[in-house]
Amino acid sequence: MPPGETQPDLGIDWQELTEYATSLLCEYIRINTTNPPGGEEAGAVFLRDALAKEGISSQLHDAGDSRVSISARLEGSGSAKPIVLLSHIDVVPVEPEHWHVDPFSGDIVEDVIWGRGALDMKGMAVMELMAMVLAKRHRIRLERDIVFLAVADEEAGGMKGIHHICETAPHLLDAEYIFNEGAYGFSEFMGRQTKMFGVAPSEKSPCWVKLVATGQPGHASVPHGDNAVAKLVKALGRVEAHERRARLTPAVEAMLSTLKTNGFMPEELNPGDPQTLETLSSVDAHLGAITHDTVNLTGFRAGKKHNVIPGTAEATLDCRLLPDTKPDDFVAELSEIIDDPGVKVERVLEHYSGASSLDTPVVSVIGEVLKEMYGEEAILLPQLCPAFTDSHAYRKAGGQAYGFTPSLLTREDLATIHGHNERLSIANLRMGANVLFEVTRRLACRG
Ligand SMILES: [Zn+2]
Repeated sequence: MPPGETQPDLGIDWQELTEYATSLLCEYIRINTTNPPGGEEAGAVFLRDALAKEGISSQLHDAGDSRVSISARLEGSGSAKPIVLLSHIDVVPVEPEHWHVDPFSGDIVEDVIWGRGALDMKGMAVMELMAMVLAKRHRIRLERDIVFLAVADEEAGGMKGIHHICETAPHLLDAEYIFNEGAYGFSEFMGRQTKMFGVAPSEKSPCWVKLVATGQPGHASVPHGDNAVAKLVKALGRVEAHERRARLTPAVEAMLSTLKTNGFMPEELNPGDPQTLETLSSVDAHLGAITHDTVNLTGFRAGKKHNVIPGTAEATLDCRLLPDTKPDDFVAELSEIIDDPGVKVERVLEHYSGASSLDTPVVSVIGEVLKEMYGEEAILLPQLCPAFTDSHAYRKAGGQAYGFTPSLLTREDLATIHGHNERLSIANLRMGANVLFEVTRRLACRG
């Protein structure tokens, strides 16, 4: 069924809407919101103007220094809590010398929109904007509010974005269902063509720590056995050598069972078997990340001069925890593994990402809409997002938040996120706007 046929009664001109969405995305990409420094104000003003053109008023949330977020609300009858369409305005830096086009040109090449943010996540923001525009234009009777929220600073932890919203506009956190980045779909999987849409009810929690080793400084000509650098190297050796068992959490269990049911896994493989899970996750880095608490060494600092023993040495570890691991337990375990009072574990950044349920109307409505649009070919693949997003703030506030970017990408497309030559096809933009509008409409029309 071609896009648009799920709303025959509304008479939406999908061709016109797609052209409009395309021109908006190209323009949005041209606004350089690289973080740092961010400068999201220009992006927020752009979104404000696009909303105003449809008669939707909005509010800017200014965290200073041009770090601005924006919210807008379509009011429902209030018989149920709001749905939030969440996105972030900032993008990560580029290395323009590796791009085929200017990363901020918003060029269209063979029906594909190129530029930083096309996938992460100005493209999804435009899909969400189209859901707002359509609900407004077609005067959809809403039982619950639809809130559009585009925030600053997601790529640097959200202090000037979602955390600023939590502090200054907490009413925006009062929501039942939230759609955000965190799961894309696949147009091919294990060499097979497919229409596999991803939905992520949970994500891993960051637990960034610093290991600080202290020892006696001194002249490097005389080893004295209390060398901070040597202690740190030994500690890191123990951390690296420590083997963690693979563990299934609900979203990954559902993901593996969906893959098996749809023939993307040999019949004889049982991923519930611990040994099979270990084997599978040792050959697939992504599966390894979503079945383990992980530790990644990302920095090491020590010493100023070749012949001087420094008094301290530091290493940064980016640890990511499964939804059921508590940071306190993990840090305590890390100290035990290091087993050296001369090496302290300092906590740098952490939050609990939480987990939403797969057993909610959100997931069943998504499944229903996809089947109507794409028939039996459509597969809804539950996922655990290995990175973290702003969704944690909503899960903490009691909402059910889902990573759900309805677009079908190749592995090559996915590699452009935070990489070079990021791009989104116009077909994907149209599909995303259509699916997101229809899912939002059905959920918002229900009490
Ligand atoms: Zn993002």
